[in-house]
Amino acid sequence: MIKIKPHDIAFDIDGVVADTMSSFIHVAKKQFGINSIRKEQITSYWLEDCLGIPDETIKSIINQILEDPFGTKLKPIDGAIETLSQISNHAPLYFVTARPVQRPIEIWLKTVLQDVPPDKIKVLATGQHDLKPKVLKKLGKTFFVEDHLETCHNIHKAGLKPIVFNQPWNQGQTPFARIGSWNELRELLELT
Ligand SMILES: [Mg+2]
Repeated sequence: MIKIKPHDIAFDIDGVVADTMSSFIHVAKKQFGINSIRKEQITSYWLEDCLGIPDETIKSIINQILEDPFGTKLKPIDGAIETLSQISNHAPLYFVTARPVQRPIEIWLKTVLQDVPPDKIKVLATGQHDLKPKVLKKLGKTFFVEDHLETCHNIHKAGLKPIVFNQPWNQGQTPFARIGSWNELRELLELT
């Protein structure tokens, strides 16, 4: 089994650390009265392709999630805080996101990771999925936990090692390591 050193790994945020889809479902319900969305129904990373709700509504909800993580009730995924806090005892935490705005999600991370010193939480917002491999290489991070399959393929092509965080929208056969939870990830890490 592979053992990953804490210094060698970085993390995507949405769909990996943050339960962004639950936040999406919450805003859809509260603001637009859409009660029909279930997480299992989100079988494509591109919400326009699988939800049958207007593009404008999707855009509005996503913008709110980008600008206001707290107002949209963004919550961490089970086990993320515990495992990340453990990792931070061995190495600074690096988050690489395709979000176009960095500040709101950085504040959110520093708030939910309350036991981690803020200077050990590094956030890089690329604004584009396809810039992630370059950024990871520059940071010297070999492993990257990601929920978007296309990005996993790009990272793999760049000679790095993606780890798929299992979600309804990334099913299907891939040659990459796949984890179903943060506890499973912890098993892969060298934390002693
Ligand atoms: Mg993601």
